[in-house]
Amino acid sequence: MNDNKYQPSAPVPIPQPIRSDGAGGVDRGPRDVLRDMQNPDMLVPPKTDNGLLPNLRFSFSDTHMQLNHGGWSREITVRELPIATTLAGVNMYLKPGGVRELHWHQQAEWSYMLLGRARITAVDQNGRNFIADVGPGDLWYFPPGIPHSIQGLEEGCEFLLVFDDGAFSDLNTLSLSDWFAHTPKEVLSANFGVPESEFDGIPKEQVYIYQSTVPGSVSSTAIQSPNGAVPLPFAHRLLAQPSMMMPGGSVRIVDSSVFPISKTIAAALVEIEPGGMRELHWHPNNDEWQYYLTGQGRMTVFGGEGNARTYDVRAGDVGYVPFAFGHYVQNTGTESLWFLEMFKSDRFEDVSLSQWMALTPHALVESNLNVSPALISKLNKVKQPVVKHPGYTYQNSHD
Ligand code: MN
Ligand code: MN
Repeated sequence: MNDNKYQPSAPVPIPQPIRSDGAGGVDRGPRDVLRDMQNPDMLVPPKTDNGLLPNLRFSFSDTHMQLNHGGWSREITVRELPIATTLAGVNMYLKPGGVRELHWHQQAEWSYMLLGRARITAVDQNGRNFIADVGPGDLWYFPPGIPHSIQGLEEGCEFLLVFDDGAFSDLNTLSLSDWFAHTPKEVLSANFGVPESEFDGIPKEQVYIYQSTVPGSVSSTAIQSPNGAVPLPFAHRLLAQPSMMMPGGSVRIVDSSVFPISKTIAAALVEIEPGGMRELHWHPNNDEWQYYLTGQGRMTVFGGEGNARTYDVRAGDVGYVPFAFGHYVQNTGTESLWFLEMFKSDRFEDVSLSQWMALTPHALVESNLNVSPALISKLNKVKQPVVKHPGYTYQNSHD
């Protein structure tokens, strides 16, 4: 349209479910054009997509926000994403001084700090205590049943919590205020040795998140335990770990080999540069629960029997890959795509398609796929979780 050159920018074309070969047809509505624009590979799937796979993506933007004085939370559990049975996630914000109240639960809790800083506390079964301030890129892990708290510091904080049970809900934990509210005051009086009137002002139900004031320094507020501190730290500075750098991105792996208390959740923090991709691979230990931190991309999952499906992902989305299903993630944007891969496991484990082929007799690989030694020469005997080969990008799947 010649008119466009007189406008500051050309109008964005409305995407239609039509493939370049003519398959499909115009969608005249009703439709949600903004969502269609965010899902180009669902609107016009790659020709190689086929068969049936369940929904493997859910956005935190499509969840119920729990608003409290002091902060907010929202969650993606098996109720939102039914395939995700191994892990559940909670995205939480605490204002400066806002408190996620003293509580505990049957599941282990793993967390990644997104923004700001928090004070975390815990006490273990032997009366050994823990207190630390955590900031962006820091992790924590509270074992099942261990009581703990989180409080926003001066700048407030936002974080991702991951629990080792897809059926978990953060609204369904065991909390200090809830137990007090449901215990006779005469029992509280007998337990603590103070008059019943001491409990006149206690909350009538679970507090969950509440507004308090920013605490003083760790050293000015920490309690000295006669039993000492917890022997294995509950916090870990992930960004202090050296990253594995490679063309196209970087990877940091964190599991119980470097963060010993984290016995049931293993993770990788992955960076994919524009034009790069998380290579074709799978995991031999468990399902993968993903959280996208920045950028946008697409993931294709292969489930055998001709089944493959592509899901568009962006910052704030959760992705899921069933145990052993093949998959890859491409950066489709102009900034780096950062995401977390998490597993209900004590170890991070993946099988690289390229490495498998590189370490298998080459005549066997060549005859199986009817390929030439040119491919064999490019295989990686050393694992490259992220790849970017100059001149070999896959820009448009729709043709
Ligand atoms: Mn918790
Ligand atoms: Mn993976």
